[in-house]
Amino acid sequence: MGPIGIFGGTFDPIHYGHLRTALELLQRLSLAQVLFVPSARQPLRDPSVAPMSTRLAMVRAAVREEPRFAVDTRELERPGPSWTVDTLRSLRSDHERRSLCLLLGMDAFLSLPRWRRWEELSGLANIVVAHRPGWQPPDQGPLADLLGRCGTESPTDLHRQPAGSVLVTPVTQIDVSASQIRAAAVAGEDPRYLVPDSVREIILETECYAR
Ligand code: ATP
Repeated sequence: MGPIGIFGGTFDPIHYGHLRTALELLQRLSLAQVLFVPSARQPLRDPSVAPMSTRLAMVRAAVREEPRFAVDTRELERPGPSWTVDTLRSLRSDHERRSLCLLLGMDAFLSLPRWRRWEELSGLANIVVAHRPGWQPPDQGPLADLLGRCGTESPTDLHRQPAGSVLVTPVTQIDVSASQIRAAAVAGEDPRYLVPDSVREIILETECYAR
């Protein structure tokens, strides 16, 4: 069985930057599936704008067309802050020997040292970092050290080891962010072509980003 990719985020809303990145990583690394894990409460950033139920509905709608994508709701069901280390521990107890790959954009990777017990993450999963427009890989500090110790360019390592490797890879650069989509919605602009049509419909119906 191939590795499971884990793509966490606020998904406020989910957009084509998330979806295309997940699909390219799935194909390039021969992942068995990608689990999208919407966060409930992210302690390191502002509260989400759309309610949890709407964010979940958008993620469900977005992944419906790709059979290798699925939604994992464990952070929404857990009380308290959505720490990734807790999510990976929980996934690891479900899949003791399976390779898990935490999928991160470069911006998220660079913020890792602020995450709770971040040094434990690479012991629980492999880490895959996708380049993102405007963000450069670290050349010094704890993340550069992590890359020096655990970095690999070989997807095979992600299949051989359940955890412990870090792979940085290019993906098609789609310079879109959820905050940009929310700001455009407040200005009355249509999010068409930045998000799947099913997500656009939810945004328009619920008016979740109207001021
Ligand atoms: P916001 O603008 O509200 O901060 P966001 O668009 O960055 O949101 P998040 O839900 O915070 O989306 O991000 C979840 C994950 O998706 C992170 O690992 C982030 O790096 C990655 N990501 C977000 N947008 C892109 C993109 N356009 N291309 C590649 N990765 C992305």
